[in-house]
Amino acid sequence: MNRFWSPVVRSLTPYVPGEQPKVENLVKLNTNENPYPPSPRALEAIRAAAGEALRLYPDPGADDLRQAIAGFNGVAAENVFVGNGSDEVLAFVFQGLLHHELPVLFPDITYSFYPVYCGLYGIDYRTLPLAADFTLRVEDYLVPNGGIIFPNPNAPTGRLLPLEAVERLLEANTASVVVVDEAYVDFGGESAIALVGRFPNLLVVQTFSKSRSLAGLRVGFAVGDAGLIEALERIKNSFNSYPLDRPAQVGAAAAMADREHFDRTRNAVILSRERLAGRLTELGFEVLPSAANFLFARHPGRDAAELAAALRERKIIVRHFRQPRIEQYLRITIGTDAQCDALAAALEAIL
Ligand code: PMP
Repeated sequence: MNRFWSPVVRSLTPYVPGEQPKVENLVKLNTNENPYPPSPRALEAIRAAAGEALRLYPDPGADDLRQAIAGFNGVAAENVFVGNGSDEVLAFVFQGLLHHELPVLFPDITYSFYPVYCGLYGIDYRTLPLAADFTLRVEDYLVPNGGIIFPNPNAPTGRLLPLEAVERLLEANTASVVVVDEAYVDFGGESAIALVGRFPNLLVVQTFSKSRSLAGLRVGFAVGDAGLIEALERIKNSFNSYPLDRPAQVGAAAAMADREHFDRTRNAVILSRERLAGRLTELGFEVLPSAANFLFARHPGRDAAELAAALRERKIIVRHFRQPRIEQYLRITIGTDAQCDALAAALEAIL
């Protein structure tokens, strides 16, 4: 019974993930998955690992995977931390911010898991409003704080903070950790991993769920100064020493090594995004510039909730957030060109 748990648990407001419907034949453009299959090399490695070896515990240090991520990003394995999806990496990051005297800062419109973790761990936080065009204003963050976290590109807007601005933030904010959540960076951003050597308080979080088509495998990682990473390891080992299973470790390492598949599929997504942005603009939508694998768009003449419902009747699902300031926007994941065409045709019929 609920009443047997603590008052904190009784008042939790958990994150509500996007729908994963069981229905077949849906055009599923609601949770920013990649429309292309994972690297065949990753699938082969996963199949090979999903056998008799499952009798054995996985490598608690995930050394081969960390080495593969380090090699790809031009850092050392001691700069890499891995977890079960970047959601778990972020959970460890927020645990690292426990008991800070100052509030953690993040934008008012952003990945809605951040306030959930703060609620769970009892972390004080302050949200800072984005500018009218939904960009992040670095100068607002230059106040004493217990840490700064933001996605780049931001979610659910897709807006990118240029790397020079991230650098400016790091130059001014040296007393607390700065976490850049780069779940979508491979679709048009420049990674802050390039700055890790210069800033010991920088932690960059990335995922295999989007640009590497492995959302179902649950692998995410963080890159940062060896000291920051070592602390995350201690947090992890205080919770579960084996967060990544054997298939996940080898599958993700193989995906990292398949540069050709990665470049081909992400470039296809970027081209489809620009094509769909053009189509939506023709249909009268205002489309925010996006550096991610989704578009954030509103139609001045039509209610977003009604549009989402009308699309759903036509078996197309997109995401609609009932949050102030963005309740008239739809977040549309970039699918294949055929899926994007189906969406555009449905919208044309609805409007
Ligand atoms: N960060 C952001 C900004 C996201 O949108 C997501 C995906 N919902 C995540 C992190 C988590 O992704 P995953 O746990 O699949 O790595």
